[in-house]
Amino acid sequence: MVVPAEHALHEAIQVSPLILSDDVKRQKIENRVAKMRFSAATARKIQDVFISEMNKGIHQQPSSLQMENTYIPELLDGTEEGLYLALDLGGTNFRVVLLELAHGAPIREEVKRYYIGSELRVGSAIPLFDHLAESVSDFVISQGLQDVELPLGFTFSFPMIQHSLDVGVLVTWTKTFNCPDAVNKDAVRLLREALDRRGDTKVKVLAVLNDTTGTLVQGSTLDHNTAVGLILGTGSNACYLERADRVEHWETERHGEREVIIDIEWGAFGDNGVLDFIKTDFDRENDANSLIVNSFTFEKYIAGKYLGEVVRVILAKLTKERLLFVGDSTSDSLLTSGNLTTDLVSHIEQDSLDGGDSNTKEILAKFGIIPDEDDIRIVQYVCEVASNRAALLVSICLASLIDRIDKEQVTIAVDGSLYKHHPRLEGWMKQYISLLCTPGRKFKLIHAEDGSGKGAALVSAIAHRLKKRLQ
Ligand code: ADP
Ligand code: MG
Repeated sequence: MVVPAEHALHEAIQVSPLILSDDVKRQKIENRVAKMRFSAATARKIQDVFISEMNKGIHQQPSSLQMENTYIPELLDGTEEGLYLALDLGGTNFRVVLLELAHGAPIREEVKRYYIGSELRVGSAIPLFDHLAESVSDFVISQGLQDVELPLGFTFSFPMIQHSLDVGVLVTWTKTFNCPDAVNKDAVRLLREALDRRGDTKVKVLAVLNDTTGTLVQGSTLDHNTAVGLILGTGSNACYLERADRVEHWETERHGEREVIIDIEWGAFGDNGVLDFIKTDFDRENDANSLIVNSFTFEKYIAGKYLGEVVRVILAKLTKERLLFVGDSTSDSLLTSGNLTTDLVSHIEQDSLDGGDSNTKEILAKFGIIPDEDDIRIVQYVCEVASNRAALLVSICLASLIDRIDKEQVTIAVDGSLYKHHPRLEGWMKQYISLLCTPGRKFKLIHAEDGSGKGAALVSAIAHRLKKRLQ
């Protein structure tokens, strides 16, 4: 017997029906993408796997979820005052941020972007970190603050192992960076040494973090119930406030902490095979076309770097199987990996919402394709199916977090351009989370922009307060 809640979930996760002039073709296409669509039972199975992987990770058993301790044991308490810095490395822009706080809330922000030439991104780490330090000095001196002791939060968006709030050992470089001699070294130490070599400011590096953690802390200034930070941008990850007594990996001395932020690192969820039951041939090809194969399984289902590619792979396969663009000559451009970016998926999804087709036609024209009516419907259907799967997967994990967190009301702070610009993700997520978490649990989704900048400065303020207390 299907329980009513499962029935509601089943109903909610249906996508709009595909309506084509050719019913046989419709059936074939629906069958072809059927594995992208989850039943309520599959959604529950994914949820069980996620919960099990979280429990294993937090107990330091083998798991695809790292469940990293960030060593941030509390949020802002309203007493933080003064000036704090952030250095944001590894996102789309490299920036220095100054934040002025009064009663724990930002009252002024200054931001400056700096450029990192490609010659600094590869090679020895010393010139790179000297450049980071030079940028910090330039900014601090331009603000006339060279003689002021300034706490700094370092957003270092690369895989690292944290031994304490201010020790983060680089596991491997990613993106466009590769300075091998920094691997296995503490990024904070490298930055401190570079600042010391200059000796022209009084900047104190107090914390190292990633953008997800910064987003949670930034969100907490907007809504004090914030207990989850979520990134849906180029990549995807989440963190949450965990009960300290549940956390086994804790290298520093404990001081009666009640909570701590755990960085789940969910981009790698499934890298050990636990999600293989949802993998489609489209996902296998998306993975094969990616830079690092067999890793970041979950991220490849949901994040901005990949969602467009999932859509492109499906469209390319349907074309080759002569179910799409049949009257048209095959578009080489559409058959090339990386050519359909996620912003285009958003634009096509907007058409579906509006019941229109102008964006879809315009985008296909750029690929040299003149579609017929059925082609347009199929392209829109595929964008909806892929987007909807991403929304459902993210919601499954977020619902599990809400259930795990012992609070009346849980606010989820979200940052990232995919979440911000996709016209349907937010609406689907609200609906799915409420059906997937324990009935009656209260939650909210809020936009918390710039966790990697503002959020990092706020973390340095927390670190500064903790340090004073322990002295
Ligand atoms: P980052 O994650 O690098 O810090 P963002 O949060 O701005 O930066 O995310 C950038 C990513 O968001 C892009 O790589 C792209 O995949 C995705 N993106 C950008 N614009 C849109 C859009 N209009 N709709 C959906 N996704 C988008
Ligand atoms: Mg970002």
